[in-house]
Amino acid sequence: MAEEAILTDTSVQDQWGQICNQLKAEVGDTAFESWLKPLSVGSFSDGVMNICVPTRFMRNWVITHYSDRIHKIWEKKNPAIKNINFIVQAIQEESRSLYNPTCRSLLKKITSTPAPQNIYQSGSANIFANNNEGTLNDSLSVPLNPQYTFDNFVVGKTNEFAYAAARKVAESRNVSFNPLFLYSGVGLGKTHLMHAIAWHIKQQDPTRNIVYLSAEKFMYKFVRALRYKDTTAFKEQFRSVDVLMVDDVQFMGGKDTTQEEFFYTFNSLIEEGRQIIISADKSPADLEGIESRLKSRLGCGLVADIHPTDFDLRMGILNNKAQQLGVELPTKVAEFLAQKITSNIRELEGALRRVIAHSQLLSDKEITLDMTQDVLKDMLRSYDKRTTIDEIQKKVAEHFNISVKEMQSSRRARTVARPRQIAMYLAKQLTSRSLPEIGRKFDRDHTTVMHAVRKVEELIIEDASLAESIDCLRRALDA
Ligand code: ADP
Ligand code: MG
Repeated sequence: MAEEAILTDTSVQDQWGQICNQLKAEVGDTAFESWLKPLSVGSFSDGVMNICVPTRFMRNWVITHYSDRIHKIWEKKNPAIKNINFIVQAIQEESRSLYNPTCRSLLKKITSTPAPQNIYQSGSANIFANNNEGTLNDSLSVPLNPQYTFDNFVVGKTNEFAYAAARKVAESRNVSFNPLFLYSGVGLGKTHLMHAIAWHIKQQDPTRNIVYLSAEKFMYKFVRALRYKDTTAFKEQFRSVDVLMVDDVQFMGGKDTTQEEFFYTFNSLIEEGRQIIISADKSPADLEGIESRLKSRLGCGLVADIHPTDFDLRMGILNNKAQQLGVELPTKVAEFLAQKITSNIRELEGALRRVIAHSQLLSDKEITLDMTQDVLKDMLRSYDKRTTIDEIQKKVAEHFNISVKEMQSSRRARTVARPRQIAMYLAKQLTSRSLPEIGRKFDRDHTTVMHAVRKVEELIIEDASLAESIDCLRRALDA
């Protein structure tokens, strides 16, 4: 019975959250941030709770310094937990396909092999990296990251709409928008907002059954149900769900049978007035390989996008994170980071953590601009090399002997239209920008970009010399 009780994802996650709070109070913020925050709970079986650690180095440290304490606190909370096992996350991720109850001994063997050392791995990215099958003994949902709350979400111009929509859904007793569809490029806060909604609803009403899972996990579970001819049980699992969140649905692209099942689940939940929240890297209309009836269903509630960050938001996030970590971040350093690391928040956080780890673990010296530049040298070098749409426009325009202005103009003459299409195609290939973002740079909408990409793909097959020039441009831009 006791064992039954801990097998629900929410109770395990809640217990882990409480243990973290207690440990934080005991060991202090700095040690907690460095060593304990990056841990996440994994699967539980035969009285053994697996805890995932990002690196072998950290595993050793945690075992020597904290494992007894964690075990004691947890055992007290939940007598079903007889032992605690620390497994290295990176290896566990690779062994995903082996991770099922029948191969546990194999997994054990694999996880005891040394993993590459990297003490600078971003903590927050790892807390939740564990959404493997088998986690929480096959439950539908995966654990929520305790850090991903509304309180920890910094609001700025670029994300205020998505934030307001998420808050509204979290706070409403009745279903307000269904589904809520969040989209953005990577690392801009979709998962954070989804978890924040879940935490908020749980806090308001712990009886509501919230299921959060990635589209990949949905697919995996469904395919497995098909294999074991057990789709009825699969469907049954969703029947009692009050709030369903599916993260990164773009991964369902091209997977027709899964989409059909998802469509079915989606419709029946909506009909019963349950809340659905979806995220993706593109708007419903732009999702590739998704059936049009599903696209239109996905877009029929509220669609909210998160734009790339601006300087103010980046500064806000840096100051907020530094404060959370109890670190004094000089304004000059914050400005430098906010100016340099513009791609997404995950990278910004990663850079900050690296600087802090360096100052605390290795040199124990204060954070300065010089030190920051030095610590991030390699990261910034690779960063500087990333291709921008502006560069692509410039290079392609030069190559075809037209001006960038002409490229962005409304002129439709072939001599201008073709280079424009090629630049759009290269922007899609070489940057992580979405179709609407690319479109804006050319003063066009996303359908024009989509058309251009397809057109150029055809031309590459038909016209060898054009294919060669495009390849040449690509190499020049990628260098
Ligand atoms: P996505 O799901 O869009 O790829 P995530 O939600 O995983 O992005 O966010 C990446 C990281 O950035 C996470 O650690 C998250 O906590 C952090 N983050 C994103 N947006 C914000 C924000 N507005 N304020 C604070 N942290 C944020
Ligand atoms: Mg995400």
